[in-house]
Amino acid sequence: DCVVELRGVTKEYRSASETVVALDDVDFTVRPGEFVAVVGPSGSGKSTMLNVLGLLDVPTRGEQYLQGGDVTDLSDEEQTDARKRAIGFVFQDFHLIPTLTATENVELPTLFDGEIAGTTGRRAAPNGGTGTEATDGHDTDGADEDPEARARDLLSRVGLGERLDHDPTQLSGGQKQRVAIARALVNRPALVLADEPTGNLDRETGTTILEEFRRICEDGVAVVAVTHDDLVTEFADRTVELVDGVLRERAPSESDESS
Ligand code: ADP
Ligand code: ADP
Repeated sequence: DCVVELRGVTKEYRSASETVVALDDVDFTVRPGEFVAVVGPSGSGKSTMLNVLGLLDVPTRGEQYLQGGDVTDLSDEEQTDARKRAIGFVFQDFHLIPTLTATENVELPTLFDGEIAGTTGRRAAPNGGTGTEATDGHDTDGADEDPEARARDLLSRVGLGERLDHDPTQLSGGQKQRVAIARALVNRPALVLADEPTGNLDRETGTTILEEFRRICEDGVAVVAVTHDDLVTEFADRTVELVDGVLRERAPSESDESS
């Protein structure tokens, strides 16, 4: 049972003058509770892979499965639904709404689709969603749970129980990233995708964030983090490396020379 699986996934960007192969015949699987780091030089395809995994971009060729279901040929709307049901996002620069409290930020993905739900917005819901559809057919134990109560509970679990009503401007970088992690978890995803989650944090704070990811994994959630940070690869169960769009497994002893 895989949370996510890529089979022979190739992603090409075509323009009049050239074709860039951003992902080249990539096979990749992640199991429940696994923490996988994705490393590689700039331009090697990391963002593209994260976008494909996050159903924000579609492969040119290959097959893709999410929780055992084929998501290779979904419509934009189906992609948005699947993304919202199964995937949470964490970013380097947190992406919190500065005018909302910590609790309100965490509640957001339960209310809206698209950019505001913590995606990059490049494939936002075409019709904007209505919010009331959010729990339709959403088969989780918390479907009836009050979003505010759930947000407060999640914030308490990441150590922010005393800062529920703070604005992001009143929080440190590490605290902001905890809010972002709580937000990523609010719809009970099977997969959390993180883009340089420690990139704006000092080593000590980064460590506390990575410990948070480990706790998430203990609950059976899979985490995939794109990173240049050796600290992330230290905490990950395994590390895969992209070079010119080709993915390979990195042996446990190899370290990342880029940091
Ligand atoms: P990384 O995240 O590792 O820096 P990217 O996935 O952003 O790598 O890019 C992989 C390759 O695909 C690069 O050569 C990049 O220039 C190219 N690329 C990425 N996105 C696009 C796009 N939307 N259009 C054209 N080329 C792209
Ligand atoms: P990162 O800093 O994570 O490596 P990039 O700076 O490579 O990311 O890319 C930032 C965004 O711009 C990505 O979403 C990527 O798809 C897009 N992008 C990257 N290269 C190109 C390109 N050559 N043409 C168009 N879009 C690109």
